[in-house]
Amino acid sequence: MNKSVDYIIVGLGIAGLSFCEIAEKNNKTFVVIDQPFCSATRVSAGIINPMVLKRFTPVWNARQHIATAFSFYGKLEKKLNLSFFKEMPMCRVFASVEEQNNWTVAADKKKLSAFLYPRILKNNNKFIHAPFGLGKVNFTGVINTEKLLNGYQNFLLKEKKILPEKFRYDLLQITNNSINYKNIKAKKIVFAEGFSARSNPFFNKELIIPNKGEFLVIKAPGLKLEALLKSSIFIVPMGDDFYKIGATYNREDFSFEVTQKAKKTLISKFKQVVSCNFSVTNQVAGMRPTTLDRRPLLGDLPKQNNIFFFTGLGTRGIISAPALAQKLFKYIEGKKPLEKEIDIKRRC
Ligand SMILES: Cc1cc2nc3c(=O)[nH]c(=O)nc-3n(C[C@H](O)[C@H](O)[C@H](O)COP(=O)(O)OP(=O)(O)OC[C@H]3O[C@@H](n4cnc5c(N)ncnc54)[C@H](O)[C@@H]3O)c2cc1C
Repeated sequence: MNKSVDYIIVGLGIAGLSFCEIAEKNNKTFVVIDQPFCSATRVSAGIINPMVLKRFTPVWNARQHIATAFSFYGKLEKKLNLSFFKEMPMCRVFASVEEQNNWTVAADKKKLSAFLYPRILKNNNKFIHAPFGLGKVNFTGVINTEKLLNGYQNFLLKEKKILPEKFRYDLLQITNNSINYKNIKAKKIVFAEGFSARSNPFFNKELIIPNKGEFLVIKAPGLKLEALLKSSIFIVPMGDDFYKIGATYNREDFSFEVTQKAKKTLISKFKQVVSCNFSVTNQVAGMRPTTLDRRPLLGDLPKQNNIFFFTGLGTRGIISAPALAQKLFKYIEGKKPLEKEIDIKRRC
């Protein structure tokens, strides 16, 4: 590949992919370098949900991020001619009368009323244990992230815009006004490596705190669930009687191995709400790129010429990446400064 482009983008998780889309929309040329050896996006549950359902509070920037995500994934489905996004209702299983009351109070608040259906719903599925009923969340859906990534990779391959290989930091040459990597000359480089930013010599590895997540794929032919279900775990219908159940959170184990401990925990939590027969067909693990203040890390560091970062997407990158890519692009192109809470410089 012998090329002169506007951008080199390292990493094709949801961060890199979202940045490709905004760059293309603005007629910028780019090459992606990605080797999917540790993709959080690929193993993500893919849930789009505006609420933190433990505390009945909205997720960070809920309105803006959810609206952008719905529009982004909808348009991308059409562009790729691929079906990977399904709008799907989500129900929260109440564990007590107190939780029912908290829901009713939350649904009455101005900033939450669009997201929470105020009435307590009765459970009609004989395999679900929900004696205190269910609360329905609006604006929810699920992305089949594996399908999305495979489809996007194929699109880039056809357009000759991706090198499916590991990026070699030692081969990067930076001058005042250009970036050279192998036979590629670019104006700028965007590192969107997720958790692997920790191995990037231009990045301070302490800024990313890995948070390992595991989930199970099960087959439960009797369950016939058509909504996302949230109790102490998420249950995500995948079609054909398959469901994802998860996920775990672990800040001490940095390995990508699946564990018996996580499997046991997830099965035990699943059995607290579901009583039908099922078999486990798969188990996966991935590393969420979380940060100390739970905000992403965007932009450039002092004294770095034309090197930019798009990482730290944490536990909800599938929701936030499309909106954040727009902010990063505007910043790089000199159109709008980054808000302090997402600017990587806040951590310098
Ligand atoms: C189990 C689990 C469940 C989750 N569920 C949800 C959810 O339901 N909803 C939600 O919004 N978020 C969820 N998340 C969080 C979400 O998946 C992440 O925030 C998001 O995927 C991070 O995307 P990213 O592009 O920054 O990183 P990644 O997806 O990890 O992508 C980085 C890419 O860069 C590549 N790369 C890195 N270094 C190099 C290099 N040197 N050379 C070449 N390639 C390189 C990697 O291999 C990878 O392909 C979940 C995460 C996990 C682990």
